[in-house]
Amino acid sequence: MSMTTSPLLIVGAGPTGLAAALFLARRGVAVRIIDAASAPSVYSKALAVNPRTLDVLAGTGVDQRILAEAAPLSRACLHPDGGETVTVDLREAGLAQPMQVLPQARTEALLAEALAAVGVQVERGVRLEDLQQVPEAVELRLLHADGSSEQVSAPLVYGADGARSRVRQALQLDFGGDSLPEPWQLWDVELETALDPGAAHILLRHDGFLFLLQLAPGVWRVIGNGAEPLQQLPQGTRAGAIHWQSSFHIGHRVAAQAGVGRVALGGDAAHIHSPIGARGMNLGIEDAYVYAACAADALGGQWQRLDDYATLRHAVHGQVVRRIALLTRLVRGRLGALRWLRDAAMPRALRFAPARAQMVHTLAGLDHPLRLAP
Ligand SMILES: Cc1cc2nc3c(=O)[nH]c(=O)nc-3n(C[C@H](O)[C@H](O)[C@H](O)COP(=O)(O)OP(=O)(O)OC[C@H]3O[C@@H](n4cnc5c(N)ncnc54)[C@H](O)[C@@H]3O)c2cc1C
Repeated sequence: MSMTTSPLLIVGAGPTGLAAALFLARRGVAVRIIDAASAPSVYSKALAVNPRTLDVLAGTGVDQRILAEAAPLSRACLHPDGGETVTVDLREAGLAQPMQVLPQARTEALLAEALAAVGVQVERGVRLEDLQQVPEAVELRLLHADGSSEQVSAPLVYGADGARSRVRQALQLDFGGDSLPEPWQLWDVELETALDPGAAHILLRHDGFLFLLQLAPGVWRVIGNGAEPLQQLPQGTRAGAIHWQSSFHIGHRVAAQAGVGRVALGGDAAHIHSPIGARGMNLGIEDAYVYAACAADALGGQWQRLDDYATLRHAVHGQVVRRIALLTRLVRGRLGALRWLRDAAMPRALRFAPARAQMVHTLAGLDHPLRLAP
């Protein structure tokens, strides 16, 4: 089979791959982007777009379209079991923009539209089967939906192919970390409730927690890790039609490296963690922004910029996943000492400005500087 040549090849058209293609195209770098799925994902998954994401998208037009379409998220409320609610104003701590609530499928659609406007279309139904690095390029084997195979050579490859990344496996990189034993359950469900619709809510319960956030008028995301979360809704709240239901296990994992040679990883391919903190999609878009800067420089002859990407992002991935893992263990309320900290100390701590500021910065994605060079 003959080998075709490709420009920089992005594997995966989730938010990370789409953002990488957009940032690269805006820097004048030719790209090809493929996705194994025949159609875009329709799931609401990540609901929060944070200020760091809006910042890196500035100038693409996508930030403005998100602001026009999304609902601002101004408050977070912690409801101790039987105790007094603590409300944190997410606009404090000097944020230039508030958090925004928009279903992930819409964020992806806005990224794909902006990408199409600069002349790049996602090639769907094209799966990466394998890759290997040779001295001057990366050689890949792609499988098309019609069953045909394609051998292709690309100068650089960006693996944005999600938590089960084929790119990460081909690089033989460990995805070290751990998983929580209990399943978490998720619903997008119609609720009649007196809860503040402009706030995200965490309700502490004896056997876990409940998370509630309105994603569209009258429709709420509910996540819980206890038995029968929908039976533990606040008093007076009534559940109606279910729009989406899912159950998943939480892992906290970081790839051993964020890049090897001409191949780099971003998004869930490089890091996974719980949805507490709303960081997954946002951190992937930030990865894409840093990758575009480093890859453009590398193609201009500064090849050490690929190592810069791997070094810079691996450090950020480790820090963020450690922080979210700790927060998750605290909120899930399953271990004795942590349970005491959660129920007694956390509500008290959140009455003080430094603890609130730390929480807001973590949610906003501003808990580390955005660095493009070491
Ligand atoms: C229930 C839920 C709630 C969440 N809530 C939040 C939240 O509030 N905030 C937040 O920031 N994040 C949240 N996340 C996480 C967020 O959805 C992910 O972090 C995000 O989708 C990662 O984007 P990605 O582009 O890196 O990977 P993905 O979205 O997984 O995209 C990977 C793409 O690669 C394609 N692909 C896979 N293998 C191949 C292959 N071999 N060849 C070609 N293509 C391939 C797939 O088809 C897919 O389109 C949530 C996730 C879930 C499940």
